[in-house]
Amino acid sequence: MNFELTEERQMLQDTLRRYLREKYDTATRNKIIASDAGYSAEIWSELAELGVIGALFTEEQGGFGGKGFDITTVFEELGRAGVVEPFLDTGVLAGGLIADLGTDDQKAHVEEIIAGSLQLAFAHGEPTSRYDLNRVQTTAKTDGDDIVLNGHKAVVVNAEAADMLVVSARESGEPGDDAGISLFLVPADTKGVTVQGYGLLAGGRAAEVMLDDVKVPASARLGDAGKALPAIEARVAKAAVAQVAETLGAMETATRLTRDYLGTRKQFGRPIGSFQALAHRMSDLQIEMEQARSSVINAAGHLESDRAIRESHVSAAKNLLGRAGRLVAEESIQMHGGIAMTQEYELAHIAKRIVMADHRFGDTDHHLERFIALSAA
Ligand SMILES: Cc1cc2nc3c(=O)[nH]c(=O)nc-3n(C[C@H](O)[C@H](O)[C@H](O)COP(=O)(O)OP(=O)(O)OC[C@H]3O[C@@H](n4cnc5c(N)ncnc54)[C@H](O)[C@@H]3O)c2cc1C
Repeated sequence: MNFELTEERQMLQDTLRRYLREKYDTATRNKIIASDAGYSAEIWSELAELGVIGALFTEEQGGFGGKGFDITTVFEELGRAGVVEPFLDTGVLAGGLIADLGTDDQKAHVEEIIAGSLQLAFAHGEPTSRYDLNRVQTTAKTDGDDIVLNGHKAVVVNAEAADMLVVSARESGEPGDDAGISLFLVPADTKGVTVQGYGLLAGGRAAEVMLDDVKVPASARLGDAGKALPAIEARVAKAAVAQVAETLGAMETATRLTRDYLGTRKQFGRPIGSFQALAHRMSDLQIEMEQARSSVINAAGHLESDRAIRESHVSAAKNLLGRAGRLVAEESIQMHGGIAMTQEYELAHIAKRIVMADHRFGDTDHHLERFIALSAA
């Protein structure tokens, strides 16, 4: 099996790495995190121009990628630089659902998404849904030619900046039923939509989104009525793979910083990396990195497979990256000593990104149970 990147992906990786190394240093990132918007419009449009969003869509959808390895190439570089801009939310999740399910009119938005001129959020999770994708309580009731949405969507990443929300709501059945869930494309300024925002621990912003008698035309529905769950699950699988690739990139940065630090910081007249206790700990991290990389490749390579195979590889990768990521983050901090706790030093942010990533799309424990259940089925 050939694990080399294609020429196009290699070019994308090189371009992104160079751009982010020059433009996205720790001081810049800290300013972006502290800003009201929580992301930089300038970085967003420059990265869009470099093809970051276009690489997330297939040629038929108007992009030039869209396969698992295109997604992992982009997100590994974003993770390596600790980027907080919401490419996952606009590009992979909400934008991807529009491209997968939209009518021709709805799909016309994909061009604006790729150009970087449209921000989106996927309003799906609810206060009681935890990691269950079918636990949708928000209701969608038909009223003549309109649909009326009511509910509470929790931790909707990028909701404040979003021009449009992709909202899931139940047209029939009970929370926990697979059937009955639909998706709707809702302009963020629609009457009845309230967005209450807050900063996230590892950068970026999210919001509680309240939907009070939000009226949209039936033409706002994305895909068939009540049949959205398989498309949501397939998109969340892509997002989870993007996220493990992002974590892998962040782990690369954490281990690089730690290796460099062990070579320069001296105690008792010697670089601390020459003490065996630390050399062994560093080797353990390098071995975990190899396993993590294989797992990300495995998951990316199975994104187009049948559901059961796809999902078991996604759960395996989420579980492994959750464990290995936490180990790398914690050990990197420990081996650095006190400096790793300062926000001015790059590792502090990178370690937070790694640890917090485990809590999105299902954590380590959730994916262990899910992997066992999928394997037994
Ligand atoms: C939240 C926080 C609050 C703090 N508050 C205070 C405070 O109030 N007052 C204060 O004085 N300090 C404080 N500190 C500093 C803390 O005491 C130091 O971080 C700690 O003593 C480690 O020193 P260092 O950061 O210089 O790491 P280093 O000494 O550089 O050590 C880095 C790594 O090398 C390892 N190492 C070093 N020497 C050897 C060796 N010979 N063999 C094997 N391994 C070795 C260490 O175990 C560590 O893993 C605080 C630190 C933190 C994180």
